[in-house]
Amino acid sequence: MTTLPFDDTTDFEDADRGLIGSLVPCVVTTEDGRVIWDNDAYQFLDDDCPDTANPSLWRQSQLCAKQGLYEVTDGIYQVRGLDLSNMTLVEGDVGVIVIDPLISKETAAAALGLYREHRGDRPVTAVIYTHAHGDHFGGVHGVYREGIPIVAGHGFMEAAIAENVYAGGAMNRRAEYMYGAQLEKGPAGQIGAGLGQTTSLGSIGLIAPTLEITHTGQEETLDGVLIRFQMTPGTECPVEMNFLFPEKRALCMAENATHNLHNLVTLRGAVVRDARIWAHYLNEAIDLFADDMDVAFASHHWPTWGRDRVVTYLSQQRDLYAYLHDQTLRLMNQGHTGIEIAEMVEMPPALEAAWHTHGYYGSVSHNVKAIYQRYLGWFDGNPAHLWQHPPVETGTRYVEAFGGADVVIAKARGYIDGGDLRFAAELLNHVIFADDTNTEARELLAGVYDTLGYGAENGTWRNFYLQGAYELRHGVQAAALDSVGSPDMVGALAVDQLFDSVAIRVNGPKAWDEHLTIDFSFTDLGQTYRLELTNGVLIQGVDPKGGTADLTLTLTKPQLLGLLGGSGLDTIATAGDASVVARLLGVLDPPNPGFAIVTP
Ligand SMILES: [Zn+2]
Repeated sequence: MTTLPFDDTTDFEDADRGLIGSLVPCVVTTEDGRVIWDNDAYQFLDDDCPDTANPSLWRQSQLCAKQGLYEVTDGIYQVRGLDLSNMTLVEGDVGVIVIDPLISKETAAAALGLYREHRGDRPVTAVIYTHAHGDHFGGVHGVYREGIPIVAGHGFMEAAIAENVYAGGAMNRRAEYMYGAQLEKGPAGQIGAGLGQTTSLGSIGLIAPTLEITHTGQEETLDGVLIRFQMTPGTECPVEMNFLFPEKRALCMAENATHNLHNLVTLRGAVVRDARIWAHYLNEAIDLFADDMDVAFASHHWPTWGRDRVVTYLSQQRDLYAYLHDQTLRLMNQGHTGIEIAEMVEMPPALEAAWHTHGYYGSVSHNVKAIYQRYLGWFDGNPAHLWQHPPVETGTRYVEAFGGADVVIAKARGYIDGGDLRFAAELLNHVIFADDTNTEARELLAGVYDTLGYGAENGTWRNFYLQGAYELRHGVQAAALDSVGSPDMVGALAVDQLFDSVAIRVNGPKAWDEHLTIDFSFTDLGQTYRLELTNGVLIQGVDPKGGTADLTLTLTKPQLLGLLGGSGLDTIATAGDASVVARLLGVLDPPNPGFAIVTP
Protein backbone atom coordinates (compact mmCIF):
# COMPACT_ATOMS: atom_id res chain seq x y z
CA MET A 1 0.00 0.00 0.00
CA THR A 2 1.29 3.46 -0.81
CA THR A 3 1.66 5.85 2.08
CA LEU A 4 -1.65 7.44 2.89
CA PRO A 5 -1.90 11.23 3.12
CA PHE A 6 -3.03 11.37 6.74
CA ASP A 7 -1.69 14.95 6.98
CA ASP A 8 -4.41 16.06 4.58
CA THR A 9 -7.35 16.78 6.90
CA THR A 10 -9.40 18.82 4.44
CA ASP A 11 -12.14 16.19 4.42
CA PHE A 12 -12.69 16.64 8.15
CA GLU A 13 -12.99 20.40 7.70
CA ASP A 14 -15.45 19.92 4.83
CA ALA A 15 -17.45 17.26 6.69
CA ASP A 16 -17.84 19.59 9.69
CA ARG A 17 -18.45 22.77 7.73
CA GLY A 18 -21.85 24.38 8.16
CA LEU A 19 -23.05 22.18 11.04
CA ILE A 20 -26.25 23.66 12.43
CA GLY A 21 -27.43 20.97 14.81
CA SER A 22 -27.33 17.22 15.42
CA LEU A 23 -30.00 14.70 16.31
CA VAL A 24 -29.61 13.79 19.98
CA PRO A 25 -29.83 10.92 20.60
CA CYS A 26 -29.30 9.82 16.98
CA VAL A 27 -31.56 6.79 17.22
CA VAL A 28 -34.62 6.32 15.01
CA THR A 29 -37.34 3.80 15.83
CA THR A 30 -40.55 2.56 14.25
CA GLU A 31 -43.92 3.38 15.79
CA ASP A 32 -43.76 0.14 17.78
CA GLY A 33 -40.30 0.95 19.11
CA ARG A 34 -38.03 -1.14 16.90
CA VAL A 35 -34.65 0.57 16.38
CA ILE A 36 -34.04 1.02 12.66
CA TRP A 37 -31.13 3.49 12.85
CA ASP A 38 -28.59 3.98 15.60
CA ASN A 39 -25.76 6.32 14.70
CA ASP A 40 -24.73 6.68 18.34
CA ALA A 41 -23.51 3.09 18.21
CA TYR A 42 -20.56 4.43 16.20
CA GLN A 43 -19.16 6.61 18.98
CA PHE A 44 -16.27 4.13 19.38
CA LEU A 45 -14.89 5.61 16.15
CA ASP A 46 -13.69 8.62 18.17
CA ASP A 47 -10.84 6.40 19.38
CA ASP A 48 -7.66 5.71 17.46
CA CYS A 49 -7.75 2.92 14.91
CA PRO A 50 -7.36 -0.48 16.60
CA ASP A 51 -5.52 -3.41 14.99
CA THR A 52 -8.91 -4.88 14.05
CA ALA A 53 -9.46 -2.27 11.34
CA ASN A 54 -7.72 -0.79 8.35
CA PRO A 55 -6.64 2.78 9.25
CA SER A 56 -7.85 4.17 5.93
CA LEU A 57 -11.34 2.69 6.36
CA TRP A 58 -11.39 3.77 10.03
CA ARG A 59 -10.75 7.34 8.92
CA GLN A 60 -13.49 7.12 6.27
CA SER A 61 -15.92 5.79 8.87
CA GLN A 62 -15.08 8.66 11.23
CA LEU A 63 -16.12 11.01 8.44
CA CYS A 64 -19.26 9.09 7.48
CA ALA A 65 -20.43 8.77 11.10
CA LYS A 66 -20.74 12.53 11.52
CA GLN A 67 -24.39 13.42 11.68
CA GLY A 68 -26.63 16.44 11.70
CA LEU A 69 -28.11 19.26 9.66
CA TYR A 70 -25.50 21.14 7.64
CA GLU A 71 -25.67 24.29 5.53
CA VAL A 72 -24.21 23.67 2.06
CA THR A 73 -24.78 27.19 0.79
CA ASP A 74 -27.40 29.87 1.26
CA GLY A 75 -30.77 28.07 1.08
CA ILE A 76 -29.35 24.54 0.59
CA TYR A 77 -29.02 22.15 3.53
CA GLN A 78 -28.12 18.52 4.00
CA VAL A 79 -29.04 16.03 6.67
CA ARG A 80 -26.16 13.59 6.85
CA GLY A 81 -25.59 10.56 9.03
CA LEU A 82 -29.27 9.62 9.45
CA ASP A 83 -29.09 6.84 6.89
CA LEU A 84 -26.71 5.41 4.31
CA SER A 85 -27.51 8.38 2.05
CA ASN A 86 -27.97 12.13 2.49
CA MET A 87 -31.17 14.10 2.30
CA THR A 88 -30.66 17.49 0.66
CA LEU A 89 -33.16 20.30 1.28
CA VAL A 90 -33.45 23.30 -1.01
CA GLU A 91 -35.52 26.23 0.22
CA GLY A 92 -37.95 27.73 -2.26
CA ASP A 93 -40.46 30.58 -2.25
CA VAL A 94 -43.06 28.67 -0.25
CA GLY A 95 -41.43 25.63 1.29
CA VAL A 96 -38.60 23.21 0.76
CA ILE A 97 -37.63 20.78 -2.02
CA VAL A 98 -36.41 17.40 -0.81
CA ILE A 99 -33.68 15.68 -2.84
CA ASP A 100 -33.46 11.95 -2.06
CA PRO A 101 -35.64 10.96 0.90
CA LEU A 102 -33.33 8.24 2.34
CA ILE A 103 -34.20 4.52 2.60
CA SER A 104 -36.93 4.34 5.24
CA LYS A 105 -39.89 6.58 5.91
CA GLU A 106 -38.86 6.71 9.59
CA THR A 107 -35.34 8.09 8.94
CA ALA A 108 -36.72 10.44 6.27
CA ALA A 109 -39.27 11.83 8.73
CA ALA A 110 -36.55 12.23 11.36
CA ALA A 111 -34.30 14.07 8.87
CA LEU A 112 -37.10 16.41 7.86
CA GLY A 113 -37.90 16.94 11.53
CA LEU A 114 -34.28 17.89 12.28
CA TYR A 115 -34.34 20.36 9.39
CA ARG A 116 -37.60 21.92 10.58
CA GLU A 117 -36.37 22.19 14.14
CA HIS A 118 -33.74 24.63 12.90
CA ARG A 119 -35.25 26.13 9.75
CA GLY A 120 -38.93 26.37 10.59
CA ASP A 121 -41.95 24.33 9.65
CA ARG A 122 -41.67 24.68 5.89
CA PRO A 123 -43.93 22.43 3.80
CA VAL A 124 -42.33 20.03 1.34
CA THR A 125 -43.07 21.45 -2.12
CA ALA A 126 -41.36 18.86 -4.34
CA VAL A 127 -39.31 15.69 -4.21
CA ILE A 128 -36.43 14.92 -6.59
CA TYR A 129 -35.04 11.42 -6.94
CA THR A 130 -31.47 11.73 -8.26
CA HIS A 131 -31.56 8.10 -9.34
CA ALA A 132 -33.37 4.80 -9.04
CA HIS A 133 -31.57 3.18 -6.08
CA GLY A 134 -33.56 2.41 -2.94
CA ASP A 135 -31.49 4.67 -0.68
CA HIS A 136 -32.69 7.64 -2.76
CA PHE A 137 -36.42 7.05 -2.82
CA GLY A 138 -37.38 4.41 -0.22
CA GLY A 139 -38.26 6.90 2.51
CA VAL A 140 -40.51 9.07 0.33
CA HIS A 141 -43.56 8.39 2.48
CA GLY A 142 -41.78 10.15 5.35
CA VAL A 143 -41.75 13.50 3.50
CA TYR A 144 -44.50 13.27 0.89
CA ARG A 145 -47.50 15.58 0.80
CA GLU A 146 -50.44 14.86 -1.50
CA GLY A 147 -50.19 16.61 -4.84
CA ILE A 148 -46.56 17.79 -4.83
CA PRO A 149 -44.46 17.06 -7.92
CA ILE A 150 -42.04 14.13 -7.82
CA VAL A 151 -39.20 14.61 -10.26
CA ALA A 152 -36.99 11.90 -11.74
CA GLY A 153 -35.23 10.91 -14.93
CA HIS A 154 -36.90 9.14 -17.84
CA GLY A 155 -37.22 5.40 -17.20
CA PHE A 156 -37.02 5.78 -13.43
CA MET A 157 -39.75 3.32 -12.47
CA GLU A 158 -38.47 0.56 -14.72
CA ALA A 159 -34.95 0.91 -13.31
CA ALA A 160 -36.14 1.11 -9.71
CA ILE A 161 -38.30 -1.96 -10.07
CA ALA A 162 -35.88 -4.09 -12.06
CA GLU A 163 -33.27 -3.62 -9.37
CA ASN A 164 -35.41 -3.68 -6.25
CA VAL A 165 -38.27 -6.03 -7.02
CA TYR A 166 -37.44 -8.52 -9.78
CA ALA A 167 -34.00 -9.35 -8.35
CA GLY A 168 -34.77 -7.92 -4.95
CA GLY A 169 -34.92 -11.21 -3.09
CA ALA A 170 -31.32 -12.12 -3.92
CA MET A 171 -30.07 -8.56 -3.66
CA ASN A 172 -31.57 -7.92 -0.23
CA ARG A 173 -29.99 -11.06 1.13
CA ARG A 174 -26.61 -10.14 -0.33
CA ALA A 175 -27.07 -6.54 0.87
CA GLU A 176 -27.10 -8.01 4.36
CA TYR A 177 -23.50 -9.06 3.69
CA MET A 178 -22.56 -5.84 1.94
CA TYR A 179 -23.75 -3.38 4.58
CA GLY A 180 -23.60 -5.59 7.69
CA ALA A 181 -26.65 -3.78 9.04
CA GLN A 182 -27.38 -6.51 11.57
CA LEU A 183 -23.77 -7.11 12.58
CA GLU A 184 -22.72 -5.84 15.95
CA LYS A 185 -21.06 -2.44 15.63
CA GLY A 186 -17.69 -2.08 17.27
CA PRO A 187 -13.94 -1.94 16.67
CA ALA A 188 -13.92 -5.64 15.76
CA GLY A 189 -17.36 -5.57 14.16
CA GLN A 190 -19.20 -3.39 11.67
CA ILE A 191 -17.53 0.03 11.41
CA GLY A 192 -19.19 1.38 8.26
CA ALA A 193 -19.80 0.68 4.61
CA GLY A 194 -17.52 3.26 3.03
CA LEU A 195 -20.31 5.09 1.26
CA GLY A 196 -22.11 5.72 4.52
CA GLN A 197 -22.37 3.84 7.78
CA THR A 198 -24.99 1.24 6.90
CA THR A 199 -28.60 0.93 5.71
CA SER A 200 -31.54 1.85 7.89
CA LEU A 201 -34.03 -0.99 8.42
CA GLY A 202 -37.42 0.73 8.37
CA SER A 203 -40.35 0.89 5.94
CA ILE A 204 -39.47 1.18 2.28
CA GLY A 205 -41.88 2.72 -0.20
CA LEU A 206 -42.02 4.19 -3.66
CA ILE A 207 -44.19 6.86 -5.22
CA ALA A 208 -43.98 7.14 -8.99
CA PRO A 209 -42.53 10.36 -10.45
CA THR A 210 -44.97 12.90 -11.86
CA LEU A 211 -42.45 15.11 -13.67
CA GLU A 212 -39.97 13.43 -15.96
CA ILE A 213 -36.57 14.78 -16.94
CA THR A 214 -35.75 13.60 -20.44
CA HIS A 215 -32.74 15.53 -21.73
CA THR A 216 -29.61 17.40 -20.76
CA GLY A 217 -30.22 21.11 -20.65
CA GLN A 218 -33.84 20.71 -19.53
CA GLU A 219 -34.75 23.39 -17.01
CA GLU A 220 -37.50 23.27 -14.44
CA THR A 221 -38.57 25.74 -11.80
CA LEU A 222 -39.78 24.13 -8.60
CA ASP A 223 -41.11 26.31 -5.80
CA GLY A 224 -39.46 29.29 -7.52
CA VAL A 225 -36.07 27.55 -7.73
CA LEU A 226 -34.47 27.14 -11.17
CA ILE A 227 -32.82 23.78 -11.84
CA ARG A 228 -30.81 22.76 -14.92
CA PHE A 229 -30.42 19.03 -15.53
CA GLN A 230 -27.78 16.76 -17.03
CA MET A 231 -28.86 13.20 -17.85
CA THR A 232 -26.22 10.60 -17.00
CA PRO A 233 -27.77 7.25 -17.99
CA GLY A 234 -25.63 4.17 -17.47
CA THR A 235 -23.34 5.67 -14.85
CA GLU A 236 -23.83 4.74 -11.21
CA CYS A 237 -27.43 3.81 -12.00
CA PRO A 238 -29.24 3.16 -15.30
CA VAL A 239 -31.33 6.30 -14.65
CA GLU A 240 -29.42 9.08 -12.92
CA MET A 241 -29.01 12.82 -13.33
CA ASN A 242 -26.79 15.65 -12.11
CA PHE A 243 -28.25 19.12 -11.78
CA LEU A 244 -27.27 22.70 -11.19
CA PHE A 245 -28.97 25.39 -9.14
CA PRO A 246 -27.69 28.33 -11.22
CA GLU A 247 -29.03 31.02 -8.89
CA LYS A 248 -27.40 29.34 -5.91
CA ARG A 249 -24.23 28.37 -7.82
CA ALA A 250 -24.52 24.87 -6.42
CA LEU A 251 -24.15 21.57 -8.25
CA CYS A 252 -25.76 18.28 -7.25
CA MET A 253 -23.64 15.36 -8.49
CA ALA A 254 -26.19 12.72 -7.45
CA GLU A 255 -24.08 9.62 -6.78
CA ASN A 256 -21.79 10.11 -9.74
CA ALA A 257 -18.97 11.68 -7.72
CA THR A 258 -18.64 10.68 -4.08
CA HIS A 259 -15.66 10.50 -1.75
CA ASN A 260 -14.64 7.02 -2.75
CA LEU A 261 -14.04 4.84 -5.75
CA HIS A 262 -17.58 3.70 -6.42
CA ASN A 263 -18.81 0.35 -7.65
CA LEU A 264 -18.87 -0.75 -11.26
CA VAL A 265 -20.66 -3.79 -9.97
CA THR A 266 -21.84 -3.81 -6.38
CA LEU A 267 -21.14 -6.84 -4.24
CA ARG A 268 -24.86 -7.19 -3.47
CA GLY A 269 -25.25 -7.73 -7.22
CA ALA A 270 -26.62 -5.44 -9.92
CA VAL A 271 -26.42 -4.97 -13.64
CA VAL A 272 -22.80 -4.03 -14.32
CA ARG A 273 -22.15 -0.34 -14.92
CA ASP A 274 -20.20 1.35 -17.70
CA ALA A 275 -16.93 2.95 -16.54
CA ARG A 276 -16.42 4.60 -19.93
CA ILE A 277 -19.80 6.34 -19.91
CA TRP A 278 -19.31 7.30 -16.26
CA ALA A 279 -16.03 9.07 -17.08
CA HIS A 280 -17.66 10.67 -20.12
CA TYR A 281 -20.51 12.19 -18.10
CA LEU A 282 -18.17 13.43 -15.37
CA ASN A 283 -16.19 15.21 -18.06
CA GLU A 284 -19.40 16.62 -19.51
CA ALA A 285 -20.45 17.84 -16.05
CA ILE A 286 -17.22 19.82 -15.79
CA ASP A 287 -17.83 21.32 -19.24
CA LEU A 288 -21.45 22.15 -18.50
CA PHE A 289 -21.26 23.45 -14.96
CA ALA A 290 -17.72 24.38 -13.86
CA ASP A 291 -18.16 28.10 -14.42
CA ASP A 292 -21.58 28.32 -12.80
CA MET A 293 -20.95 26.80 -9.39
CA ASP A 294 -19.00 27.35 -6.20
CA VAL A 295 -19.92 24.14 -4.44
CA ALA A 296 -20.69 20.54 -5.42
CA PHE A 297 -22.63 18.18 -3.18
CA ALA A 298 -23.83 14.63 -3.62
CA SER A 299 -26.27 12.17 -2.13
CA HIS A 300 -23.53 10.59 -0.02
CA HIS A 301 -20.60 12.11 1.87
CA TRP A 302 -19.79 15.80 2.32
CA PRO A 303 -19.67 18.66 -0.22
CA THR A 304 -16.62 20.21 -1.87
CA TRP A 305 -16.37 23.98 -1.90
CA GLY A 306 -14.59 26.24 -4.37
CA ARG A 307 -14.76 26.08 -8.14
CA ASP A 308 -11.16 24.96 -8.65
CA ARG A 309 -11.32 22.34 -5.93
CA VAL A 310 -14.52 20.93 -7.43
CA VAL A 311 -12.96 20.76 -10.89
CA THR A 312 -9.91 18.94 -9.51
CA TYR A 313 -12.17 16.57 -7.61
CA LEU A 314 -14.41 15.83 -10.59
CA SER A 315 -11.41 15.45 -12.90
CA GLN A 316 -9.78 12.94 -10.57
CA GLN A 317 -13.04 11.02 -10.25
CA ARG A 318 -13.32 11.00 -14.04
CA ASP A 319 -9.74 9.79 -14.47
CA LEU A 320 -10.31 7.05 -11.92
CA TYR A 321 -13.06 5.39 -13.96
CA ALA A 322 -11.39 6.12 -17.31
CA TYR A 323 -8.08 4.65 -16.13
CA LEU A 324 -9.71 1.48 -14.80
CA HIS A 325 -11.68 1.08 -18.00
CA ASP A 326 -8.86 1.66 -20.44
CA GLN A 327 -6.23 -0.35 -18.59
CA THR A 328 -8.59 -3.29 -18.15
CA LEU A 329 -9.34 -3.31 -21.86
CA ARG A 330 -5.68 -2.93 -22.80
CA LEU A 331 -4.73 -5.93 -20.68
CA MET A 332 -7.84 -7.87 -21.71
CA ASN A 333 -6.88 -7.48 -25.35
CA GLN A 334 -3.46 -8.86 -24.53
CA GLY A 335 -5.11 -12.01 -23.26
CA HIS A 336 -5.34 -11.49 -19.52
CA THR A 337 -8.51 -12.49 -17.70
CA GLY A 338 -10.42 -10.45 -15.12
CA ILE A 339 -9.00 -12.28 -12.12
CA GLU A 340 -5.48 -11.66 -13.47
CA ILE A 341 -6.00 -8.02 -14.42
CA ALA A 342 -7.40 -7.35 -10.95
CA GLU A 343 -3.93 -8.18 -9.58
CA MET A 344 -2.10 -6.19 -12.27
CA VAL A 345 -3.76 -2.77 -12.30
CA GLU A 346 -2.13 -0.20 -10.06
CA MET A 347 -3.62 3.26 -9.87
CA PRO A 348 -1.47 6.27 -10.80
CA PRO A 349 0.26 7.68 -7.69
CA ALA A 350 -1.23 11.13 -8.25
CA LEU A 351 -4.75 9.69 -8.06
CA GLU A 352 -3.85 7.42 -5.15
CA ALA A 353 -2.69 10.48 -3.22
CA ALA A 354 -6.23 11.86 -3.09
CA TRP A 355 -8.42 10.33 -0.38
CA HIS A 356 -11.60 10.36 -2.46
CA THR A 357 -10.17 7.95 -5.03
CA HIS A 358 -9.76 5.15 -2.52
CA GLY A 359 -11.79 1.99 -2.70
CA TYR A 360 -13.98 2.29 0.35
CA TYR A 361 -17.08 1.15 -1.52
CA GLY A 362 -15.94 -0.08 -4.92
CA SER A 363 -12.45 -1.54 -5.17
CA VAL A 364 -9.90 -1.68 -7.98
CA SER A 365 -10.03 -5.46 -7.64
CA HIS A 366 -13.74 -6.02 -8.09
CA ASN A 367 -14.22 -3.10 -10.48
CA VAL A 368 -11.66 -4.53 -12.91
CA LYS A 369 -13.58 -7.80 -12.85
CA ALA A 370 -16.77 -5.84 -13.48
CA ILE A 371 -15.30 -4.21 -16.58
CA TYR A 372 -14.18 -7.62 -17.85
CA GLN A 373 -17.68 -8.95 -17.10
CA ARG A 374 -19.30 -6.07 -18.96
CA TYR A 375 -17.37 -6.79 -22.14
CA LEU A 376 -16.76 -10.53 -22.01
CA GLY A 377 -19.08 -12.03 -19.41
CA TRP A 378 -18.50 -14.73 -16.81
CA PHE A 379 -16.48 -17.06 -19.04
CA ASP A 380 -12.73 -16.47 -19.32
CA GLY A 381 -12.40 -18.55 -22.48
CA ASN A 382 -10.58 -21.45 -20.80
CA PRO A 383 -12.51 -24.68 -21.49
CA ALA A 384 -11.49 -25.98 -18.04
CA HIS A 385 -13.84 -23.30 -16.71
CA LEU A 386 -16.64 -23.92 -19.16
CA TRP A 387 -18.35 -26.75 -17.32
CA GLN A 388 -17.07 -26.81 -13.76
CA HIS A 389 -18.79 -28.68 -10.98
CA PRO A 390 -20.90 -26.57 -8.59
CA PRO A 391 -19.51 -25.90 -5.07
CA VAL A 392 -20.74 -29.00 -3.23
CA GLU A 393 -19.52 -31.38 -5.94
CA THR A 394 -16.22 -29.49 -6.22
CA GLY A 395 -15.71 -29.41 -2.46
CA THR A 396 -16.43 -33.11 -2.12
CA ARG A 397 -13.89 -33.95 -4.80
CA TYR A 398 -11.21 -31.64 -3.37
CA VAL A 399 -11.54 -33.27 0.03
CA GLU A 400 -11.40 -36.72 -1.57
CA ALA A 401 -8.42 -35.81 -3.76
CA PHE A 402 -6.47 -34.43 -0.81
CA GLY A 403 -7.16 -37.54 1.25
CA GLY A 404 -9.80 -36.30 3.66
CA ALA A 405 -10.94 -33.17 5.47
CA ASP A 406 -8.21 -33.39 8.12
CA VAL A 407 -5.53 -33.20 5.47
CA VAL A 408 -7.16 -30.18 3.80
CA ILE A 409 -7.53 -28.43 7.16
CA ALA A 410 -3.86 -29.13 8.02
CA LYS A 411 -2.85 -27.68 4.65
CA ALA A 412 -5.06 -24.66 5.27
CA ARG A 413 -3.36 -24.07 8.62
CA GLY A 414 -0.05 -24.06 6.76
CA TYR A 415 -1.28 -21.35 4.41
CA ILE A 416 -2.65 -19.35 7.36
CA ASP A 417 0.74 -19.57 9.09
CA GLY A 418 2.39 -18.48 5.85
CA GLY A 419 0.07 -15.47 5.59
CA ASP A 420 -1.82 -16.64 2.51
CA LEU A 421 -5.31 -16.25 3.88
CA ARG A 422 -6.82 -16.09 0.43
CA PHE A 423 -5.82 -19.64 -0.39
CA ALA A 424 -6.61 -20.85 3.12
CA ALA A 425 -10.16 -19.52 2.58
CA GLU A 426 -10.38 -21.39 -0.71
CA LEU A 427 -9.36 -24.70 0.88
CA LEU A 428 -11.56 -24.37 3.96
CA ASN A 429 -14.53 -23.37 1.84
CA HIS A 430 -14.16 -26.65 -0.05
CA VAL A 431 -14.19 -28.58 3.24
CA ILE A 432 -17.38 -26.84 4.37
CA PHE A 433 -19.17 -27.36 1.07
CA ALA A 434 -18.24 -31.05 1.30
CA ASP A 435 -19.49 -31.25 4.89
CA ASP A 436 -20.97 -28.22 6.58
CA THR A 437 -21.02 -29.96 9.97
CA ASN A 438 -17.23 -29.79 10.14
CA THR A 439 -17.01 -27.35 13.04
CA GLU A 440 -13.22 -27.19 13.00
CA ALA A 441 -13.25 -25.95 9.41
CA ARG A 442 -16.10 -23.55 10.14
CA GLU A 443 -14.32 -21.94 13.08
CA LEU A 444 -11.01 -21.81 11.25
CA LEU A 445 -12.56 -20.19 8.19
CA ALA A 446 -14.48 -17.74 10.38
CA GLY A 447 -11.14 -16.67 11.86
CA VAL A 448 -9.65 -16.28 8.39
CA TYR A 449 -12.61 -14.11 7.36
CA ASP A 450 -12.21 -11.99 10.51
CA THR A 451 -8.58 -11.28 9.66
CA LEU A 452 -9.33 -10.56 6.01
CA GLY A 453 -12.10 -8.20 7.14
CA TYR A 454 -9.88 -6.37 9.60
CA GLY A 455 -7.33 -5.72 6.87
CA ALA A 456 -9.75 -4.49 4.23
CA GLU A 457 -9.73 -0.84 3.19
CA ASN A 458 -13.06 -1.47 1.52
CA GLY A 459 -16.06 -1.23 3.85
CA THR A 460 -18.17 -3.68 1.88
CA TRP A 461 -15.37 -6.24 1.74
CA ARG A 462 -15.00 -5.98 5.50
CA ASN A 463 -18.74 -6.46 5.94
CA PHE A 464 -18.82 -9.45 3.59
CA TYR A 465 -16.02 -11.14 5.51
CA LEU A 466 -17.47 -10.38 8.94
CA GLN A 467 -21.01 -11.40 7.95
CA GLY A 468 -19.59 -14.63 6.52
CA ALA A 469 -17.70 -15.25 9.77
CA TYR A 470 -20.86 -14.55 11.78
CA GLU A 471 -22.93 -17.02 9.77
CA LEU A 472 -20.27 -19.72 9.94
CA ARG A 473 -20.41 -19.41 13.72
CA HIS A 474 -24.12 -18.74 14.30
CA GLY A 475 -26.02 -19.73 11.16
CA VAL A 476 -27.92 -17.65 8.64
CA GLN A 477 -29.05 -14.15 9.58
CA ALA A 478 -31.99 -13.57 7.25
CA ALA A 479 -32.31 -10.29 5.37
CA ALA A 480 -33.90 -7.56 7.47
CA LEU A 481 -34.43 -5.21 4.57
CA ASP A 482 -37.43 -6.05 2.43
CA SER A 483 -37.94 -4.12 -0.76
CA VAL A 484 -39.90 -7.01 -2.25
CA GLY A 485 -42.76 -7.62 0.11
CA SER A 486 -43.16 -4.03 1.28
CA PRO A 487 -46.79 -3.02 0.55
CA ASP A 488 -45.69 0.56 -0.22
CA MET A 489 -43.29 -0.82 -2.81
CA VAL A 490 -45.62 -3.39 -4.34
CA GLY A 491 -48.40 -0.82 -4.54
CA ALA A 492 -46.22 1.40 -6.73
CA LEU A 493 -45.89 -1.25 -9.43
CA ALA A 494 -47.88 -0.96 -12.65
CA VAL A 495 -50.12 -3.91 -13.50
CA ASP A 496 -47.70 -5.33 -16.08
CA GLN A 497 -44.91 -5.09 -13.52
CA LEU A 498 -47.06 -6.84 -10.93
CA PHE A 499 -47.71 -9.68 -13.38
CA ASP A 500 -43.96 -9.80 -14.20
CA SER A 501 -43.21 -10.15 -10.52
CA VAL A 502 -45.68 -13.06 -10.38
CA ALA A 503 -44.15 -14.67 -13.49
CA ILE A 504 -40.67 -14.82 -11.92
CA ARG A 505 -42.12 -16.83 -9.03
CA VAL A 506 -43.55 -19.62 -11.20
CA ASN A 507 -41.89 -22.91 -10.30
CA GLY A 508 -41.17 -24.13 -13.83
CA PRO A 509 -41.13 -27.91 -13.35
CA LYS A 510 -44.19 -27.77 -11.09
CA ALA A 511 -46.05 -25.83 -13.78
CA TRP A 512 -44.90 -27.88 -16.79
CA ASP A 513 -48.26 -29.58 -17.21
CA GLU A 514 -50.48 -26.68 -16.18
CA HIS A 515 -52.37 -24.75 -18.81
CA LEU A 516 -54.72 -21.99 -17.76
CA THR A 517 -55.89 -18.60 -18.94
CA ILE A 518 -57.25 -15.76 -16.85
CA ASP A 519 -58.58 -12.42 -18.07
CA PHE A 520 -58.31 -9.49 -15.67
CA SER A 521 -60.78 -6.80 -16.67
CA PHE A 522 -59.77 -3.62 -14.81
CA THR A 523 -62.65 -1.25 -14.23
CA ASP A 524 -60.32 1.49 -12.96
CA LEU A 525 -57.82 1.22 -15.83
CA GLY A 526 -60.28 0.44 -18.64
CA GLN A 527 -58.02 -2.39 -19.81
CA THR A 528 -58.09 -6.15 -19.87
CA TYR A 529 -54.94 -8.17 -19.25
CA ARG A 530 -54.75 -11.84 -20.15
CA LEU A 531 -52.45 -14.16 -18.25
CA GLU A 532 -51.71 -17.51 -19.82
CA LEU A 533 -49.74 -20.20 -18.06
CA THR A 534 -48.21 -22.62 -20.52
CA ASN A 535 -44.91 -24.56 -20.70
CA GLY A 536 -44.08 -23.37 -17.20
CA VAL A 537 -44.15 -19.68 -18.15
CA LEU A 538 -46.69 -17.02 -17.39
CA ILE A 539 -47.26 -14.83 -20.43
CA GLN A 540 -49.17 -11.58 -20.20
CA GLY A 541 -50.91 -9.55 -22.89
CA VAL A 542 -53.20 -6.56 -23.06
CA ASP A 543 -56.65 -6.47 -24.67
CA PRO A 544 -56.76 -10.12 -25.80
CA LYS A 545 -58.04 -10.76 -29.29
CA GLY A 546 -59.89 -14.02 -29.73
CA GLY A 547 -59.80 -17.15 -27.64
CA THR A 548 -61.58 -17.58 -24.39
CA ALA A 549 -60.25 -17.49 -20.87
CA ASP A 550 -60.93 -20.15 -18.25
CA LEU A 551 -61.85 -17.34 -15.90
CA THR A 552 -62.60 -13.64 -16.19
CA LEU A 553 -62.10 -11.41 -13.17
CA THR A 554 -63.63 -7.96 -13.11
CA LEU A 555 -61.70 -5.89 -10.62
CA THR A 556 -59.60 -2.83 -9.75
CA LYS A 557 -55.85 -2.62 -9.28
CA PRO A 558 -56.20 -2.42 -5.47
CA GLN A 559 -58.28 -5.60 -5.63
CA LEU A 560 -55.51 -7.26 -7.64
CA LEU A 561 -53.03 -6.25 -4.92
CA GLY A 562 -55.35 -7.85 -2.37
CA LEU A 563 -55.66 -11.02 -4.42
CA LEU A 564 -51.88 -11.31 -4.80
CA GLY A 565 -51.55 -10.66 -1.09
CA GLY A 566 -53.73 -13.70 -0.39
CA SER A 567 -57.11 -12.13 0.34
CA GLY A 568 -59.00 -14.44 -2.03
CA LEU A 569 -61.72 -13.77 -4.58
CA ASP A 570 -64.53 -12.74 -2.22
CA THR A 571 -64.84 -9.13 -3.36
CA ILE A 572 -64.08 -9.79 -7.04
CA ALA A 573 -66.67 -10.52 -9.72
CA THR A 574 -65.86 -13.80 -11.48
CA ALA A 575 -67.11 -15.55 -14.59
CA GLY A 576 -65.90 -19.06 -15.41
CA ASP A 577 -63.80 -21.58 -13.52
CA ALA A 578 -62.65 -19.85 -10.31
CA SER A 579 -60.46 -22.83 -9.34
CA VAL A 580 -57.74 -21.74 -11.80
CA VAL A 581 -56.70 -18.98 -9.37
CA ALA A 582 -55.77 -21.55 -6.74
CA ARG A 583 -53.99 -23.59 -9.41
CA LEU A 584 -51.92 -20.56 -10.40
CA LEU A 585 -51.12 -19.58 -6.82
CA GLY A 586 -50.20 -23.22 -6.19
CA VAL A 587 -47.23 -23.12 -8.58
CA LEU A 588 -45.72 -19.90 -7.18
CA ASP A 589 -42.54 -20.04 -5.07
CA PRO A 590 -41.84 -17.26 -2.58
CA PRO A 591 -38.30 -15.83 -2.48
CA ASN A 592 -36.13 -17.07 0.41
CA PRO A 593 -34.80 -14.16 2.49
CA GLY A 594 -32.46 -16.47 4.40
CA PHE A 595 -30.71 -18.55 1.77
CA ALA A 596 -27.29 -19.92 2.67
CA ILE A 597 -24.17 -18.25 1.28
CA VAL A 598 -21.10 -19.47 3.17
CA THR A 599 -22.51 -22.97 3.58
CA PRO A 600 -24.23 -25.32 1.10
ZN1 LIG B 1 -26.88 5.74 -2.85
